[in-house]
Amino acid sequence: MKITAQQQRSIFILWLLVVPLMFYIALNYFPAESYDYVNMAIYLAILIATLKTSIPLDRVSLTLERWVIFSLFFQYGVVAEMIFMQIASFVLLFIMKSPTPKAFRFAFNSINFAVVSIISGAIFYIFGGPLSEMSLSSFLLAGFLYASAYSLINSSLIYLFFKWLKTDTSGMKKVIVWDYVSSILLLPFAITFCLLMQQFGSKAFLLIGVPFLLVLLVASNYMNSNKMSQLLASSTVIGHQLADNLLVENVHLTFIDKIKGVIPYDSAYIVDLRMGENLVLLSFKEGEFRSGVANRFSLPPKRSESDGLEVNSTRLFLNRKSIDALKAYTFDPSVESVMTAPIKRNEKTEGFLILTSHQRYAFDDVHVKIVDLLTGYFATAVEKARYYEKTVEKSVTCGLTGLYNYRYLESKLDEEMIRYHTGEISTLSAIMLDIDHFKSINDTYGHQSGNDLLRAYADLLRSFRVEDMTLARYGGEEFVMLLPNCEKEDAIEIAEMIRKEVEQTKFKIIPDLSEDREPIIIDITISVGVATMPIDAKDGKELLRNADRALYIGGKQAGRNKVGIYEEDDKVTI
Ligand code: GH3
Ligand code: MG
Ligand code: MG
Repeated sequence: MKITAQQQRSIFILWLLVVPLMFYIALNYFPAESYDYVNMAIYLAILIATLKTSIPLDRVSLTLERWVIFSLFFQYGVVAEMIFMQIASFVLLFIMKSPTPKAFRFAFNSINFAVVSIISGAIFYIFGGPLSEMSLSSFLLAGFLYASAYSLINSSLIYLFFKWLKTDTSGMKKVIVWDYVSSILLLPFAITFCLLMQQFGSKAFLLIGVPFLLVLLVASNYMNSNKMSQLLASSTVIGHQLADNLLVENVHLTFIDKIKGVIPYDSAYIVDLRMGENLVLLSFKEGEFRSGVANRFSLPPKRSESDGLEVNSTRLFLNRKSIDALKAYTFDPSVESVMTAPIKRNEKTEGFLILTSHQRYAFDDVHVKIVDLLTGYFATAVEKARYYEKTVEKSVTCGLTGLYNYRYLESKLDEEMIRYHTGEISTLSAIMLDIDHFKSINDTYGHQSGNDLLRAYADLLRSFRVEDMTLARYGGEEFVMLLPNCEKEDAIEIAEMIRKEVEQTKFKIIPDLSEDREPIIIDITISVGVATMPIDAKDGKELLRNADRALYIGGKQAGRNKVGIYEEDDKVTI
């Protein structure tokens, strides 16, 4: 809730006008009963204890202090009730965490309660009268009207107040109904308590006050554990959803998206911790944005011991002042709450989850428990996805050069055929490359040196970056480039460029067989074959076969270090 300076001024002026006036009216027009200060102190103790024990109900946090207030009013009149409600609104500031500034909340609650006290008090005296002159039935009727007025005026004022602040009031209906129902349900307690007090004095607290508090405590614990178990159930579902992802990137996206359902964050960041100190931002979500550069958060490249991040436990920073403890990290000025949670795998912290909110006190201990559980699920899911990705990578690449292997080339060729037949691409060129006299390099310098050369040669081929290209090791020292949407002339040009580049490159290898193992420079050449679909072949297999043919006839047979071009009728030009 954003409150303007104008609104702040207005509420304080209103407070100065309304609250003293209400007290004046109460003191002058409402009969004050004689006060029993011991009883009133006990009332106060029960009031605070009841306020502290809230019951979470379907997104509404219910407090059941109203029976204490009603009973106090029946016994001691409007002035006592008003003073108690002013104390209550002060106590509530510290019990209910809220993003709204305390002074503003106090001023509003104070005005609200003062007006509610006077009007509902007046209704009680109009329809009933002083307690000593009333029959039980008129007490019940006046009490009912009093409690109804109390709840409805209170809700109406809050509603108007929210409208004035332009705050969303869509969730208020439920709160209004709960407020009214609980007020009416608590009324018999207040009446019984008041009557018992008249009969037995302060011992009546033992008959109603203490049992009520105990039942409240049990209910509150039960509902809180119910809320916790609901969150735990949602977390388990999230755990399964994370485990369903086979790619690390998807695990990240799912994690960031799904925790939003259980923790009210505005921005989320997943930070990797490398070698215990280097920090890298891996994924984030700022509002709706999740790609590009994070612009509401920045982090240092390395962490230090006193930077505020805790490697072993989740920490909450619930207002701007406490966020200062994370001094090495920069947050958007609108951020008011931060949660930092270590992401651990096998007892080792591998990274951090950082959640931020524009609200103060946005996170609580229940959120911490849930985050601790979810980061565990997350770490396991990432590990599994990483393992899967590695396995897939290994199965499609060649261990020596890191380029795709023949198996991958075959499946890629099938894919390209589908793209060709669906019209997504109109041509497909294949360039096949084979090193000239490679066997002699092995024989002269050793197999290991041959491997080093193959690796360096693969890197050279990789450096030719053509859009959408697939580069694969076809076998031995033979490599293939698949070029979708590449015309034959362009493919020939590329082939020629590579041939020249290889011819001019000085490859440095360490001879495996020599004693001194001094690095030497060797020159190599390659023979190349080019074929293009649809003019040279009708399918993928034929395309490779004809490129190979062009390589053999136009390259090798023609004297090597040449680009052979496949032509119709088995003719190959050089
Ligand atoms: P040309 O192509 O010019 O006709 O002569 P070449 O010597 O290159 O002939 P060929 O293609 O028949 O021989 C390829 C040689 O490449 C045979 C083999 O010893 C070597 N070779 C194949 N795979 C590897 C490898 O992974 N590492 C090493 N070091 N050598 C390999
Ligand atoms: Mg060869
Ligand atoms: Mg060969």
